[in-house]
Amino acid sequence: MDSRITGSASQLRDTGSELAQVPIVPAGTVLVELAQVFAKHETQHVLVQETSGGLLGIVSAGDLQNAMRTTSDSGMTAWHHRTVESLISVTLELEENAGRKRPEKDRKQEDCKQVVEQDCVSIRDGADLLALMTNEDVLLSWNRLEPALARAATDALTSLPNRTHFERRFQEEWQRATRLGLTLGLLIIDIDHFKQVNDTFGHLRGDMVLAAVAQCCQKQLRSYDLVARFAGDEFVAVTCGCSVEDIDLPIRRLQDSIRSLNLQFNGEHVPTTLSIGASVVCSGLDELKAEDLLESADQCLYLAKRNGRNRAYRVELFGDGTSGSPTRVDAVPLNVE
Ligand code: GH3
Ligand code: MG
Repeated sequence: MDSRITGSASQLRDTGSELAQVPIVPAGTVLVELAQVFAKHETQHVLVQETSGGLLGIVSAGDLQNAMRTTSDSGMTAWHHRTVESLISVTLELEENAGRKRPEKDRKQEDCKQVVEQDCVSIRDGADLLALMTNEDVLLSWNRLEPALARAATDALTSLPNRTHFERRFQEEWQRATRLGLTLGLLIIDIDHFKQVNDTFGHLRGDMVLAAVAQCCQKQLRSYDLVARFAGDEFVAVTCGCSVEDIDLPIRRLQDSIRSLNLQFNGEHVPTTLSIGASVVCSGLDELKAEDLLESADQCLYLAKRNGRNRAYRVELFGDGTSGSPTRVDAVPLNVE
């Protein structure tokens, strides 16, 4: 069986070219025009698209060259009549085409070698074609896929990583710290009385406050710390390799920068303060779970809220060497006033 699509995909990757750069020509394109497309785009492949928008298949420059070699001079007029469909050696049976009978003209395969039908799924972002998946290979457009993946991992309002991205990275950081014997800290940061900000100044301005706080969080933590929007007015930060006391520093820096934000709308000051819960695990990571760190930071946040807001509490966590349940050193209030 012709496995050209595997070859095509590998070649696409090997040459660093991408699906994004593969031109798409409409069915019915005659071979003279096709030759011009190959020349203009300096490409090794084109995708053939039927009039309804579905993709019919892939044609390589080699397919065209072979056809040229086997066509005699007397058959040159054929170049002005013969269409690209006759060169398709790999057809793509796209998901959206499944069960739909192709028009007769699209299946015209005269002068063509054996045709292979590949089940193929197209992955799209709106109108953009991101990838074609067959059971043998995947053709990816990194140019188009990367921004789509980045969008999926980013909170649109604050441009911080979103919760989904955070949860995946947090587990990765936990595993890395366990493997390398590093310490790991987690901050949960919540804006105080944020509902009142929305009620007083409106949601749009509330959004601006959220974006400003997000920027402060990002700025005041180290570039390699992971900062994300967790939910609503709640942010999280994972700090790697810091001791229990070390975590006080970013907390103080963050509280200082929030104080100096001095947000105003129409000359009216927007009271903005943060409550923070922090948890650090220094040993016994292999006996614990990442969720233990999250839970104890959340308990510290609760303490900060209950004891008046605009403050932080931190707790140290470690495995007790036996039970696998976390042991906590009492939460310590950090005076941030
Ligand atoms: P607390 O001090 O106890 O945290 O009080 P709070 O008013 O901040 O209460 P809470 O954290 O429970 O409320 C969060 C509010 O954040 C509720 C919701 O209306 C608001 N919120 C959540 N997401 C958004 C958003 O994307 N934009 C805006 N403007 N508001 C949001
Ligand atoms: Mg809040």
